[in-house]
Amino acid sequence: MKSSYRRIDLELVHPFTIARGSRTRVGGVILEIEHEGITGIGEAAPSERYGETPETVISFLSLLDLRSFPDPMETEEILRRVDSMAEGNCAAKAAVDLALHDWIGKKLGTPLWKLFGLTKDKTPLTSFTIGIDTPEVIERKVLEADAYPILKVKVGIPGDEEIIKRIRSLTDKVIRVDANEGWKSREQAVDKILWLEEQGIEFVEQPLSSKDLEGAAWVRERVHIPLIADESVQRLSDLRGLVGAYDGINIKLMKCAGLREAMRMIQAGRGLGLKIMLGCMVETSVAVSAAAQLSPLADYADLDGNILVANDPFQGVLVEAGKLVLNDRPGLGAIPKGGR
Ligand code: MG
Repeated sequence: MKSSYRRIDLELVHPFTIARGSRTRVGGVILEIEHEGITGIGEAAPSERYGETPETVISFLSLLDLRSFPDPMETEEILRRVDSMAEGNCAAKAAVDLALHDWIGKKLGTPLWKLFGLTKDKTPLTSFTIGIDTPEVIERKVLEADAYPILKVKVGIPGDEEIIKRIRSLTDKVIRVDANEGWKSREQAVDKILWLEEQGIEFVEQPLSSKDLEGAAWVRERVHIPLIADESVQRLSDLRGLVGAYDGINIKLMKCAGLREAMRMIQAGRGLGLKIMLGCMVETSVAVSAAAQLSPLADYADLDGNILVANDPFQGVLVEAGKLVLNDRPGLGAIPKGGR
């Protein structure tokens, strides 16, 4: 098995602002694994929130030597070794996981959703994310999001009620909100959420700091709409601590090191009675198509990271009237833009 990687720079359609900060470009890494004339494509979309940058991904991948593994099918052993190379680095590890899964699907001539035993038309609707912005820009974004029946709105800053009020005055669509750990106390979170309930909000993502599970449990007892953990859940081992604090989990391939662990988190989360959401970073159609392969298992999808990118080098999963549309291509179902 041979591997190669390259840095990519993604330009955003709009500057993207959440409670933590603002960005106009995002760096990522594309990994290719080649074996027996078949190339599997993977992607790392590193997030500084989790201690990763394109540089840390490249440094991790530069230490990766896949030549000692004779067969890409042995994902269990390969990914166990990759995971043990260093703590963290989950986006870099996800690139390997995605490339291996893409290779296997191409080798078998099967899309991954089929290999996982899933039903293609059971994909959920995806939300479209609206970042924090001025009222004028928010208004324009709501109009641009006309084709998407569900909006996910970033809040968690002082005055965020104004954003919701403005959007509610423009549309009666389903709205989900994501506070990105932005509210400063459990009392503030309860006040905000009770007000959001009156605006017909479907659920709230990550109201408090990731470590404050006790606070989340306190909030949960006082509100009526579901609380979904995002920053509080990265990997499988985080699930146990969430019971009682959150109603659901936002699984992202870049947090949990790829499809293999994401599948386990879905099963374990179901066993714990948690709602399952699939999310993404700002990333290309490679990583979004990978997550979409699992989406027939999800209650909620927020897989719009590629739609926020102006120069996506790939094409894969599509969105039609908000619904994720999987294709029949083998593997992740993503190919270079303009390819066939
Ligand atoms: Mg989130």
